[in-house]
Amino acid sequence: MSQKRVYLFGNGKAEGNAKMREELGGKGANLAEMNHIGVPVPPGFTITTDCCNEYYQVGQQKIMELLNDDVMAAVKHIENLMNCKFGDAQNPLLVSVRSGARASMPGMMDTILNLGLNDEVAEGMAKKTNNPHFVYDSYRRFVQMYGDVVLEMKPVNKTDIDPFEEIIEKVKKESGVVLDKDLSVEDLKKLVQLFKAAIKERTGKDFPNDPIEQLWGAICAVFRSWMNERAILYRKMEGIPDEWGTAVSVMAMVFGNMGDTSATGVCFSRDAANGENLFNGEYLVNAQGEDVVAGIRTPQQITKIGSQRWAERAGISEEERVAKYPSMEEAMPEIYAELNGIQDKLEHHYHDMQDMEFTVQEGKLWFLQTRNGKRTGAAMVKIAIDLLHEGMIDEKTAIQRCEPQKLDELLHPVFDKKALSAAKVIAQGLPASPGAACGQIVFHADDAKEWHENGHKVVLVRIETSPEDLAGMAAAEGILTARGGMTSHAAVVARGMGKCCVSGVGALNVSYKDKTVEIDGVTYKEGDFISLNGTTGQVYAGEVPTKAAELSGDFKELMDLCDKYTKLQVRTNADTPHDAQVARAFGAKGIGLTRTEHMFFEDQKIVAMREMILADSVAGREKALAKLLPYQKADFKGILEAMDGLPVNIRLLDPPLHEFVPHDLAGQQTMAKEMGVSLEEIQRRVDSLAENNPMLGHRGCRLGITFPEITAMQTKAILSAACELKKEGKNPMPEIMVPLIGTINELKQQKEVIQYAAKEVFAEYGIEVEFEIGTMIEIPRAALTADLIASEAQYFSFGTNDLTQMTFGYSRDDIASFLPVYLDKKILKVDPFQVLDQKGVGRLIKFAVNEGREVRPDLRCGICGEHGGEPSSVKFCAKIGMNYASCSPFRVPIARLAAAQAAVEE
Ligand code: PEP
Ligand code: MG
Repeated sequence: MSQKRVYLFGNGKAEGNAKMREELGGKGANLAEMNHIGVPVPPGFTITTDCCNEYYQVGQQKIMELLNDDVMAAVKHIENLMNCKFGDAQNPLLVSVRSGARASMPGMMDTILNLGLNDEVAEGMAKKTNNPHFVYDSYRRFVQMYGDVVLEMKPVNKTDIDPFEEIIEKVKKESGVVLDKDLSVEDLKKLVQLFKAAIKERTGKDFPNDPIEQLWGAICAVFRSWMNERAILYRKMEGIPDEWGTAVSVMAMVFGNMGDTSATGVCFSRDAANGENLFNGEYLVNAQGEDVVAGIRTPQQITKIGSQRWAERAGISEEERVAKYPSMEEAMPEIYAELNGIQDKLEHHYHDMQDMEFTVQEGKLWFLQTRNGKRTGAAMVKIAIDLLHEGMIDEKTAIQRCEPQKLDELLHPVFDKKALSAAKVIAQGLPASPGAACGQIVFHADDAKEWHENGHKVVLVRIETSPEDLAGMAAAEGILTARGGMTSHAAVVARGMGKCCVSGVGALNVSYKDKTVEIDGVTYKEGDFISLNGTTGQVYAGEVPTKAAELSGDFKELMDLCDKYTKLQVRTNADTPHDAQVARAFGAKGIGLTRTEHMFFEDQKIVAMREMILADSVAGREKALAKLLPYQKADFKGILEAMDGLPVNIRLLDPPLHEFVPHDLAGQQTMAKEMGVSLEEIQRRVDSLAENNPMLGHRGCRLGITFPEITAMQTKAILSAACELKKEGKNPMPEIMVPLIGTINELKQQKEVIQYAAKEVFAEYGIEVEFEIGTMIEIPRAALTADLIASEAQYFSFGTNDLTQMTFGYSRDDIASFLPVYLDKKILKVDPFQVLDQKGVGRLIKFAVNEGREVRPDLRCGICGEHGGEPSSVKFCAKIGMNYASCSPFRVPIARLAAAQAAVEE
């Protein structure tokens, strides 16, 4: 812990600088930096973030003792530079006390303005400034803020009226005044006294008259605000550690409320919504900072062009605009020129879009804050590419400037922002697959298909989904499930389709029978509208309009830049030619996983599949498989063609067979009819497939080993498709992957079957196609015996969904029942099915990659679990030297950016 607790700024020789965010918080560090480069900032000092942690360790009394000498010296420093005195009645200094963490947490913590006022100081100041209205306006604001923040005089509950607002309304009524700014000096004085009385009544505490006592109260209140509810929630959402703490910056007050030559405002060096290179912002004449954000008075635009655009949107004529709502550029041209010059200087200094706060006191401009501005995904890409073109940053920096996760916003439909603000959130689930969706509720996959065919937009609401629901999911705008985590069937399939999905919404009570879903006591019927935000996991009642995403040329330029630096390639998980094409358009360099089971559900395929399952002899199975073969061949041909010239990794059948048979009576009756057997026969077979623990049961290569004819059929389908394409002059590059290997002998056995089938196909077609045989590594034992497995496998594909499941021992479909508690109690920091657990599962992967390459130095290694599209996991894969990551089509750009960032970071 650094010993220096307080850093001064304000004489052009600040003790801190922009690099000291960790110690001084973003605000403190940038105030110091601005001071260094000649931007006018009021003098002040910053108490370090370490002191915030100390506050929580040693308590208020002790931290005040530890800080006392430094803080008193720092107050002297401000007094000297401002030529006035804290607490002095004739020539007083007032200060603001502001929070500021390492990462920006806009509006989450507290700030106190006008500190140092009491009755005597106010009277002296009124005389000195000859502006009693300004002084008493500042005073009543200070008492209110101090009451709220330091003395914690918050409304008791949501329905409780803010006691200060109640008093203001009462005084305004008595004086016949409508706007706060029209209150007289006497009114304002009355407010101060009434506020103080209200504080005493509610909190039992006296408002402190001593400015030093006020200062300590405010400093400690800022420390406390680090742990307020909204700050904690914000940190959770943004992944900001609780240990960082907030710094406290105390600086001389400058006043935007000293009359018509004073003002206050917020501005951005570029447009944070779309990235346009246009200085913009809002300001208010004769106001203090909080007035701009509070929405009581309508702020005006800073630039003329901004003002003109605003007026156009509001339907205000140019004449009226100039007369009533002039921009700062027009109303205060000199100040505007200075402001414009400084914003440009700051952007060039920080080489990034700046978000700034300023105050004009009687014609003099002061900067109170600058930070890199928050922005949308679209603005993020545009600004990075523009700054690159303008020569302000280099290529590697442009790559680093973009957050992979935020690219998502650019790829999926989004809600119309205006509509969203009026929408009602009715439930919260997991953000399983991003984007926005809106449609009429249906509860069955068949209904989804039917309604869709009849021209309706539908949202499929299920307790959980199964592979049988695939067609319905494809027809729906979005999917909502009561159960299931981020790697549940619904989530994985939806992400693959680029379809919005919210899963694991515990509050849903679905009744398939009544076709209703009850949420918090409200019942929604089939046909009612519902809207989903798959990016946040929020569910809305009714119809919230959506709009499609548009991809700009900047996006392509960023992606090309990524390819220039990356070492880790990105493939896609795709089961259809359409998905393969989408992914290829997003830059996928092949397919890392085709799950063949998804192909068995369409049309007649499921009938043949069920026939195969029902058969109790090899001959019976072979007969059914012979019917499946042409379907499979056609499916594989489509995918190999879509990925022509790029590798396509096809996995042999993986899920347990019970997933292919109906479990409801109606379905079983249909099956009996289709198969021409009795219902009892069907039920007997379905019962015999039941397992206590299907994910650890008869699935993966265990199916291919017990029924080698399945492996043979699938191999023939893959290689026949490839032979036909080759004959058509195409360049198919198939890879055949064996799932769920735990022992080397499993792989050996399956390889024999594959090689035998291959020989037959090549003899039949009279040509050969090169192909590789590899394996999934998704059972810990496979990872631990990677050296043995590599002697038989040409490549490893890490199935991190199952590997996470089996390493942690958490069922991937049931984690939703305890994950929220685990996250809340900090047993887990994140959902390990979303973010690769590098310490455990990652260690196993790294071991397997290294061991495998000891035996086979050119062993190709990739990841195909859901982590293959999650930025930190992709970076990990790049760092340990994997060859590729494979993810759902809509995550391909995200993985490409993360992979490039990993290369640049190296
Ligand atoms: C995995 O387990 O990570 C994997 C890709 O396979 P699946 O999700 O189909 O089980
Ligand atoms: Mg798996």
